[in-house]
Amino acid sequence: MKQRERIKRIPPYIFAEIDKKKAEAKAKGMDIVDLGIGDPDLPTPDFILDKMAEAIRKPEHHDYPPYQGTQEFRESVATWFQGRFGVTLNPNSEVLSLIGSKEGIAHSFLSFMDPGDIAIVPDPGYPAYAVGALIAGGEPYYVQVNEDNNYEPDLDSIPQEVIDKATLIFLNFPGNPTGSLASDAFYENAIAWAKKHNILICNDLAYSEVYYDGEKPRSILEFPGAMDVAIEFHSLSKTFNMTGWRVGMVVGNEEAVQTLGKIKTNMDSGVFKAIQETAAYALLNGDSFIETQNKLYQERRDIIVNGLRELGWNIEAPKATFYIWLPVPEGKKSQDFTIELLETTGVLVVPGTGYGPNGEGYFRISITAKNDRLEEAIKRFKEHGIRFS
Ligand code: PLP
Repeated sequence: MKQRERIKRIPPYIFAEIDKKKAEAKAKGMDIVDLGIGDPDLPTPDFILDKMAEAIRKPEHHDYPPYQGTQEFRESVATWFQGRFGVTLNPNSEVLSLIGSKEGIAHSFLSFMDPGDIAIVPDPGYPAYAVGALIAGGEPYYVQVNEDNNYEPDLDSIPQEVIDKATLIFLNFPGNPTGSLASDAFYENAIAWAKKHNILICNDLAYSEVYYDGEKPRSILEFPGAMDVAIEFHSLSKTFNMTGWRVGMVVGNEEAVQTLGKIKTNMDSGVFKAIQETAAYALLNGDSFIETQNKLYQERRDIIVNGLRELGWNIEAPKATFYIWLPVPEGKKSQDFTIELLETTGVLVVPGTGYGPNGEGYFRISITAKNDRLEEAIKRFKEHGIRFS
């Protein structure tokens, strides 16, 4: 079969090599401490499972769902949004259900780009952004984010010829892989910039509910003028350990939300209604669960951050997400370091290059493992002389 140009544009899967090494290490009987994957190790909580057990038995849930999401789901999103962010959304025009936020993110490139257009994406950033632009026949423009700029893209550094062809920009705070939060000033500036250049902001808030020290991440839609230029992606995946359920939502600028809806209507048939009913319930009844879960993640974060500091990593604890982003030891390459780490210690982490070219020199630790496994990882680092300096 001749490979089509669209398929050829998809870059090789950067994690394939590490997956292979993981399988080899496992086959040798090695006990792997897996701090690679960004998938909660904890189960979906009982209050959600109980609701789903009821919802799945209702025959009215068994046919095709409405494309835009059920009325109940969209209304509960609007109610949750009002309570969490103080933003009023029209559930009939400014909210759509998604089959997980990744589905909406991927379809946004088809919705908002023509072939040859540019999508501005953070580097390092969630890989689906750059690949989404390529699949849509467009080009990603990587804007570097790093510790020195608080992981906020320097919008003024983007060349005019890129701006001329750009139709959208992806922002992601709390950020994967960096765990960073944006300042209010950044959002205000981004809104003014997007308005000036007629570029749609696609704000990815998949990690909005995984945060520490009570500092709740903000929605861009809280800022004046955002509704004119921005849409925002949300997800129940990480909030409620529901990655396998595939449910999320996009909210914000009506015209953009409806445009995305037009693509979706022709590409998918919505989210299982029993899941929508359960998700609606989870959003409105999940606060105490979120609080308890974040305390648990905070304990895990502190085990890893304190352990790494003892090993010479002078890092700040992330304010949100279950990721820790840190430099590889001097003179090493990301991919080589992560493979060497796996082979010598059995600890699996992800090379920074998986998140864009500017991820070279870094790696990501995911704290989606129990305290004793995190302690074990640090112990093995110590035993094998893995240090930053
Ligand atoms: N956005 C970011 C930054 C992510 O890291 C992920 C998943 O890892 C997603 C979106 C997609 O999540 P989901 O499709 O499960 O909602």
